[in-house]
Amino acid sequence: MRNTLTIAVSKGRIFKDALPLLAGAGIVPKDDPESSRKLILDTSRDDVKLVLIRASDVPTYVDYGAADIGIAGKDVLMEYEGDGLYELLDLKIARCKLMVAGPEGSNTDSTPLRIATKYVNSAKRYFADQGKQAELIKLYGSMELAPLVGLSDHIVDVVDTGNTLRANGLVPLEHIADISSRLIVNKASMKMKHAAVKLFIDNVAKTVAQNNPDN
Ligand code: AMP
Repeated sequence: MRNTLTIAVSKGRIFKDALPLLAGAGIVPKDDPESSRKLILDTSRDDVKLVLIRASDVPTYVDYGAADIGIAGKDVLMEYEGDGLYELLDLKIARCKLMVAGPEGSNTDSTPLRIATKYVNSAKRYFADQGKQAELIKLYGSMELAPLVGLSDHIVDVVDTGNTLRANGLVPLEHIADISSRLIVNKASMKMKHAAVKLFIDNVAKTVAQNNPDN
């Protein structure tokens, strides 16, 4: 195990955007996760495996050392409370914004607020920093529905094009944070597998820099 690297990544948008970065480090998965049901993918490198897990589970696998490295959205990392990992590199992929959204014409001036969100910790911090009292209602998906049926006044969610909000009669109201995917590394792996981890990070960083010449 000492010489192998396990990388945790979620299927979908992040996996797709991460493929060119992995390729820059000489890592090409042998299966396509969209058509394969495998949860562990072999790669073009015998010493590197990919594990496919839910986006919100990536920090947990890395924190506990089940994966050496992970690719996780900043939105997920802002929620995560463990301390067994380092966040080492902004991959500048899967970019979006964490926002407060609600019905057109609404605002967050009259408190207490009822906020439905998957991002309870981030939302709690955001409103507490503003001295606003907010009741957080934890949801696991389809946050946009909550204000439409009277479950909450507003939502906190990640917004990319804003199409999902618009389709449900909601608008973005307040910007909480810019989000992109980050490279995270298990603290023990950083010590025990330092050379392999460092080489991987350096190679990925080069591709990130090439792909983003302006920032
Ligand atoms: P939108 O393009 O604003 O309609 O985004 C549609 C939905 O996709 C949002 O409600 C989010 O749940 C999700 N989403 C968009 N961008 C990201 C991202 N970079 N990371 C995770 N989820 C995202």
